[in-house]
Amino acid sequence: MVQSMTKTDTRDVKATVRQIKELEEIDCEIIRVAVPDAEAARALVDIKSNIKIPLVADIHFDYRLALAAIKAGVDGLRLNPGNIVEADKVKKVALAARERGVPVRIGVNAGSLPPTDNPGLTVAERMVAAALEQIHLLESLNFDLIKVSLKAFDVPTTIEAYQSIAEKVPYPLHIGITEAGLPRTGVVRSSVGIGTLLWLGIGDTIRVSLTAPPREEVIAAYEILKSLDLRRHGPVLVSCPTCGRAEADVVKLAQEVEARLLKIDRPIKVAVMGCVVNGPGEARDADVGIACGKGKGVIFKKGEKVATVEEKDFLTALMREVEGV
Ligand code: SF4
Repeated sequence: MVQSMTKTDTRDVKATVRQIKELEEIDCEIIRVAVPDAEAARALVDIKSNIKIPLVADIHFDYRLALAAIKAGVDGLRLNPGNIVEADKVKKVALAARERGVPVRIGVNAGSLPPTDNPGLTVAERMVAAALEQIHLLESLNFDLIKVSLKAFDVPTTIEAYQSIAEKVPYPLHIGITEAGLPRTGVVRSSVGIGTLLWLGIGDTIRVSLTAPPREEVIAAYEILKSLDLRRHGPVLVSCPTCGRAEADVVKLAQEVEARLLKIDRPIKVAVMGCVVNGPGEARDADVGIACGKGKGVIFKKGEKVATVEEKDFLTALMREVEGV
């Protein structure tokens, strides 16, 4: 499932609900909000009653905020074992969560690991150890609504940690690369990390963490899932990179097609190809495609050639066929 996190001040209910609703529109499936203080915890009641998707409260440092979030009716909690360390506090949260059937994600972050007395451990090993310690504590309280995440900025560390925990515990894993950066590099980093894990069969929920509006995170998450054929979600645009053989402005046409496809939510594969070398093959393979030639282009639909159109009509003719699929 695709998860994101709001970037508004949680105490500002109106802005937070607005952002969540925008994410619901693009099929975000779980939303997490930061709960930095008691006022934010109180806001959870109103946020929860105005949204449709499950709401997860992100808690650091203060276990009392977790208790308040449970009371507010959240659907899940994220606790950081790096900063809520004391067993008696975790126990209080687990008992309250058990009573209300609220799942708890043990969210380990490489940047905030609990202290260790074993200096020989790698970062990945320390992350796994931190998660296991809290898992064992929750299990000792007969609490098994557990989810685990082990996020780092470093992709090999993240993969190593998840592979290790996946062998050791049966719980669902929330995966992601933390603090992945601005969209251009962050999407690549997240795709390599999340994609590798998914390909290994690891991961139940995903979040792409980007220094960007959360909408970008959700779009990137679906693109990762689509590229591994794990989900069909909205349109897929196939477009050639263009080269010296291109006989039309493929970049412009592809950008225009992409903008139009954003308004369509059914799964459809559309190809924009720049010439007649690879163009007809890919265009034929898509639900709808265009192979551009000099001044004219051929439109294919479900493998069949349906029209030859003038260059000025490429976009409208292609989108007319897309609408008809
Ligand atoms: S489809 Fe044609 S124009 Fe596009 S990259 Fe391939 S050879 Fe070049």
